[in-house]
Amino acid sequence: MRILIANDDGIYSPGIVALAEVATRFGEVRIVAPDVEQSSMGHAITANRPLNYKKARLKDFDAYRVNGTPADCVALGLHLWGGADLVLSGINLGLNLGSAIWHSGTLGAAKQAVFSGARGIAFSTSAEHEEPVFEQLQPHVESVLKVLVRHSSLHLVNVNLPPLPIGIRWTRQSIRQYVGRMFQAKLPMCLEIYWFTVVRVRDAAEDPDRWAIEPGWISI
Ligand code: MN
Repeated sequence: MRILIANDDGIYSPGIVALAEVATRFGEVRIVAPDVEQSSMGHAITANRPLNYKKARLKDFDAYRVNGTPADCVALGLHLWGGADLVLSGINLGLNLGSAIWHSGTLGAAKQAVFSGARGIAFSTSAEHEEPVFEQLQPHVESVLKVLVRHSSLHLVNVNLPPLPIGIRWTRQSIRQYVGRMFQAKLPMCLEIYWFTVVRVRDAAEDPDRWAIEPGWISI
């Protein structure tokens, strides 16, 4: 099985090697990822300038560093490789739950995989308070992949891992409320600035994917 690995945090984010290391237990692995961080780029593609790549070496992996979005990376990666069976995206530094999924570049890469005829699975983990310990998460990523590789009818899957997983729950994306919020601040010289971001929901009881993560379940 050919497995293409992408992300939106950039090719030098630690999560991508962690994911590639697990993926080698399932097939042949190649990494194609943005040269700089492309979080919250969603499923954007680069339409107004050319793309190119530079070869890189990440541990023992063949890697391609692309001057584009996560979806560009998957499209280019699949073209260069002549296709793949599975595209894994992540492991993202930050959960992708509820309405955050619509903005996520991690999910954008997985969606592009499906558009291009491969399966797409996105992996994200909590990075709100401290750096994820990927060595601890890798056995859980392997367990999830063992389940999902068998379910070949699942073309697009979003997986979120809490820091210390206690098991797996099948969930739905929360669509109860949109949690994008505009923050305003003033810089010196009275310049007003704005920062648009998706905030964390505290009341997660009715949100299927958030509900699973809070007590420590892996949400699939
Ligand atoms: Mn990201």
